[in-house]
Amino acid sequence: MESALTARDRVGVQDFVLLENYTSEAAFIENLRKRFKENLIYTYIGSVLVSVNPYKELEIYTKNHMERYRGVNFYEVSPHIYAVADNSYRSMRTERKDQCILISGESGAGKTEASKKILQYYAVTCPASEQVQTVKDRLLQSNPVLEAFGNAKTLRNDNSSRFGKYMDIQFDFKGAPVGGHIINYLLEKSRVVHQNHGERNFHIFYQLIEGGEEDLLRRLGLERNPQQYQYLVKVSIYPLNLEQASSARDALSKAVYGRTFTWLVNKINASLAYTHYSVIGLLDIYGFEVFQHNSFEQFCINYCNEKLQQLFIELTLKSEQEEYEAEGITWEPVQYFNNKIICDLVEEKFKGIISILDEECLRPGDASDTTFLEKLEDTVGGHPHFVTHKLADGKTRKVMGRDEFRLLHYAGEVNYNVNGFLDKNNDLLFRNLKEVMCMSENKILTQCFDREELSDKKRPDTAATQFKASLAKLMEILMSKEPSYVRCIKPNDSKQAGRFDEVLIRHQVKYLGLMENLRVRRAGFAYRRRYEVFLQRYKSLCPDTWPNWQGKLADGVATLVKHLGYKPEEYKLGRSKIFIRFPKTLFATEDALETR
Ligand code: ADP
Ligand code: MG
Repeated sequence: MESALTARDRVGVQDFVLLENYTSEAAFIENLRKRFKENLIYTYIGSVLVSVNPYKELEIYTKNHMERYRGVNFYEVSPHIYAVADNSYRSMRTERKDQCILISGESGAGKTEASKKILQYYAVTCPASEQVQTVKDRLLQSNPVLEAFGNAKTLRNDNSSRFGKYMDIQFDFKGAPVGGHIINYLLEKSRVVHQNHGERNFHIFYQLIEGGEEDLLRRLGLERNPQQYQYLVKVSIYPLNLEQASSARDALSKAVYGRTFTWLVNKINASLAYTHYSVIGLLDIYGFEVFQHNSFEQFCINYCNEKLQQLFIELTLKSEQEEYEAEGITWEPVQYFNNKIICDLVEEKFKGIISILDEECLRPGDASDTTFLEKLEDTVGGHPHFVTHKLADGKTRKVMGRDEFRLLHYAGEVNYNVNGFLDKNNDLLFRNLKEVMCMSENKILTQCFDREELSDKKRPDTAATQFKASLAKLMEILMSKEPSYVRCIKPNDSKQAGRFDEVLIRHQVKYLGLMENLRVRRAGFAYRRRYEVFLQRYKSLCPDTWPNWQGKLADGVATLVKHLGYKPEEYKLGRSKIFIRFPKTLFATEDALETR
């Protein structure tokens, strides 16, 4: 039989906290590569699940697999998305605390697939009644509807979600899923009027034209051929004199689409609403985006990721601290980078970047993207996480444009081009177009465009301010729950099975903040187990504990580790658990078990 050590050589460790050299990015990636080659796409960082998109169907999502993960301890079986789903479910049931699962990663990394797998896991494994079945079906069936309206083919992903999604799965007191609620974030509505070369508009347009019944198409005045439509086939979004008219038309299209999407989400929510007892929330949201050219959208998305990282730090450290306290172990301060300073830089009242942007958007006269950049330099120019061409040193200046500002995010540096920031933030729609929409005979449109909006003298909130408010609400929702994390990685850009593109992966490890995750997790102890679990596994290594220890569990473990020669600095004994500081201590014990 293969010894634990050689197995480790071949398939790597199933938890990154067990990496000897846990600060080395190279060791991290090597571990990921080994496992990926063996089709082991899941690895933990403590309770964080790292997942690499296999781009092929693996035989690991069968009903048998679901059964295997039901009710077992996180560490007893190999890492899996079902283990995360099951762990959250059981914590919800036993600790009576709402849960949330935060899934992040770049486009094409497997976020949406992961959230679907979690939903399916609950649909199959949770108790059900006939009435519950309807809601379960609706929960599952809301996906294709939202994907039709919210997903599109992009260069990175044939079925790319163009919106962020938070979904509560609601459970009754018996633990049966009985309802749901969805909140959508930042739909990429600009796609309605413009797509990059090789990309498409939202799926629904093609589906409608391909699959819509004759009668429906006639009523809507549509033809079967997508080539007919300016918005479905990219044509190069005009002579200059039409520019304003076209952009007003586009603004209308974007508004109609964006609001209809929200209407659809509300409609689905109404069909899912049910009195419930506890919830598990699923967040499927874009990870850090760093492109050659980064604009307002990347700024919002990356700001969102800073907020999520802050939540991660606060909640992880808090739960670590609580565990130490519960176990009666002295807390040792952890060295980590607190990114609150960057969140403040973006969102602080009056002097944060969003405030300054809003100020320029409201200022009459010569306000422009350029004056916005100058204002930023005047106001936050001295901030340690902010750089512009003018403020940069010689080396940085070489890789920065004059119309860019750079933020030093917790995960790395990103240059943002200010062109278009004011327009995108204003997101203005001409008043007379709004009026026309309010007068429409179409029922959905009149629900989307409220007459009250017309009498409202106040300017609507800017896009960034709306987003900031919705993020603050999201943080509140997540803070009230116990989080689990899934970090998705895309192994290559060509959607190919088996290809592990190291450069691309290193980039994602960096921007997902995985090394930082690992540092926080490893700050104290690499490994901790309840006494009975530890004793059960290793009792055969000591004559005093074999075959059965009769006394107190804590004494048994103390006797065992003394016999094994553990040094005082290597471990601590808490109230119910042993804490082991270094992986090598544990591996030596594992090896002793193998060679006994
Ligand atoms: P994201 O939501 O992160 O943009 P998706 O979840 O849509 O990415 O995944 C993109 C594609 O990758 C899917 O359409 C599917 O083909 C493939 N994929 C993702 N996760 C898995 C998986 N666990 N097993 C097999 N294929 C997967
Ligand atoms: Mg997606």
